[in-house]
Amino acid sequence: MQFHHHGYVSGDPLIQPAAGVGINRPVELPNEVDVLIVGTGPAGMLAAAQLSQFPSVATRIVERRPARLAIGQADGIQTRTVETFQAFGFAERITAEAYRITETAFWKPDPADSSRIIRIARTQDDPADISEFPHLVVNQARVLDYFAEFMANSPTRMSPDYGFEFRSLSVSDEGEYPVTVTLVRTSGPHAGQERVVRAKYVVGADGARSKVRESIGCALAGDQANHAWGVMDVLAVTDFPDIRLKCAIQSGMGGSILLIPREGGHLFRMYVDLGEVEAQNKGAVRSTSVEEIIDKANAILHPYTLDVRNVAWHSVYEVGHRLTDRFDDVLPEQRGTRIPRVFITGDACHTHSAKAGQGMNVSMQDGFNLAWKLGHVLEGRSPESLLSTYSAERQVVAKNLIDFDKEWSTLMARKPEEFENPSELEDFYVRTAEFPAGFMTEYAPSMLVATAKHQCLAPAFTIGKRFKSAPVVRVADANRVHLGHHAKADGRWRIYVFADSAPHSADSPTERFANWITNSPDSPLAATPSGADPDAWFDVKVIYQQDHTGVDINAVPEVFKPQVGPFRLTDYEKVYATDPTEDIFELRGLNRGGLIVIVRPDQYVANILPLTATTELAAFFAPVLRPRVETRVFNE
Ligand code: FAD
Repeated sequence: MQFHHHGYVSGDPLIQPAAGVGINRPVELPNEVDVLIVGTGPAGMLAAAQLSQFPSVATRIVERRPARLAIGQADGIQTRTVETFQAFGFAERITAEAYRITETAFWKPDPADSSRIIRIARTQDDPADISEFPHLVVNQARVLDYFAEFMANSPTRMSPDYGFEFRSLSVSDEGEYPVTVTLVRTSGPHAGQERVVRAKYVVGADGARSKVRESIGCALAGDQANHAWGVMDVLAVTDFPDIRLKCAIQSGMGGSILLIPREGGHLFRMYVDLGEVEAQNKGAVRSTSVEEIIDKANAILHPYTLDVRNVAWHSVYEVGHRLTDRFDDVLPEQRGTRIPRVFITGDACHTHSAKAGQGMNVSMQDGFNLAWKLGHVLEGRSPESLLSTYSAERQVVAKNLIDFDKEWSTLMARKPEEFENPSELEDFYVRTAEFPAGFMTEYAPSMLVATAKHQCLAPAFTIGKRFKSAPVVRVADANRVHLGHHAKADGRWRIYVFADSAPHSADSPTERFANWITNSPDSPLAATPSGADPDAWFDVKVIYQQDHTGVDINAVPEVFKPQVGPFRLTDYEKVYATDPTEDIFELRGLNRGGLIVIVRPDQYVANILPLTATTELAAFFAPVLRPRVETRVFNE
């Protein structure tokens, strides 16, 4: 963590100095805002947290509940999400309080007596070492708390506006604030009163029954029937031996349980399958009592028993596989002629079973994808065309998720005797692990993602997929660190320069590239506003092939050691060398002639180029950046 560069900080360094709209931020919801987010679920809170890092952007997030979510809803945190939490600075703290999944056990009917279940397999959770981050279980409410803390500590000092329900919106073609939103207060002395707020952009993160979705004429399409689960978070005494392991349990009587141990060492969640529910039959399943859910769980677990001592939360969770065909308010025939003003994220656009534990995770990545784009457009860094990439990128991800989840939930629902291969379920779980871990997202070529022309320079940094970190050694202090873990959710592009093998000679490709990116009018850095820190928009780092003792820090070009803050101090934390025990060049198959890896603010690899391809680099950024602006600059 870097601080003190503006002078000595004696308090919590996580609290950033207030800036821009964070200075004297109005307590009351204003009449006009840049971005209005509706809903404080995972999608909305991540989007708000990301936008809280843009001091010139006035963002408000409204929620119909009177206060924070206390309990319930999703709890599975995939490794990609923990990686994202790292960018928001709370991966370590949430990991410390969470349950960590390391193995999954599979239970099926005993072939000798189908009324009894037996354990038939245990699989390691991440056998292929997909990520250095853990797979966690922690309640959605705690995830939201961490995002709330992050945004409160941000320069914009954001906090949710509770007690406002979204009712409707209209979009005009004119004016600075073209979206007019009608809200109603749901709590406090003014409950029932209407409020009208005008916004430049609206983000509907208001869940599966989204009114924002409805207001832009989108509908969820998909299965007619819903699948229902009785979900309970309970404290219980049991002789079931794997109660502290994640388990998929199928009984001979046809029922199944997904068991998820929870944080704290005692609590666990059971999803008890209540089967398919036809649309006309919804009322009946919703009235399933917790006692009925417990009875069913006991029947499935036979010969083991479950003595429930305390029910912390329960719900009947019903959901079908549904998806909207667009994630913004631009109709197919308007694409390319109109910029989107209203977006939908998370469950508002896609719903699916809980069995692969994806709901909260994919929703957060929707928010991550969208929010930095809004920040860049509103700050004048990028043209509005950037916003069209949100729907294009995330709709495909949601479609893939629904296809995956259909396959997984169909397998889970199959009776044991229906499997041709008895280990089909476990095999599928292990074979497809990268998908539910969140790492199979691969954005197609667009204005933000290059084609694979130079992919061969770095085969393991797949263009369009998230940047897979690896260990390196920071030259200045000889610390072994993870390169990707320094990519914060600060809205900056990252340019990783992997140096050639003789980088200090005056004519080396690394030196020539450093000279070009520092001085050329075609360099993306030339777009950085005057007066801002040189790395305010682009975080340029170098990784040398040598051992750290072989790098002369004084010979490292200035662009990798920018002078920042009011005292113009040298930032030494962008210069890395290889870790001889785990050489990043070997681990990721990097070309020894050197290369450039461009990574988006949401951590996806946008382009890979040779060090000499400065014209291509300039051409890549040309449509992404607006000509240099002189306003809306807030140095901390
Ligand atoms: P949500 O988390 O649904 O958040 C939407 C927010 O918008 C809510 O805070 C809501 O109060 C607010 N809101 C809604 N309408 C308005 C409005 N008109 N005006 C203002 N605010 C509004 N997923 C799992 O993986 N496992 C589970 O066990 C599981 N259980 C669930 C149980 C319940 C009861 C629910 C509702 C969902 C459950 N989910 C579960 C789904 C999971 O929680 C979601 O996939 C995830 O929360 C989606 O995040 P989101 O931000 O898109 O929406």
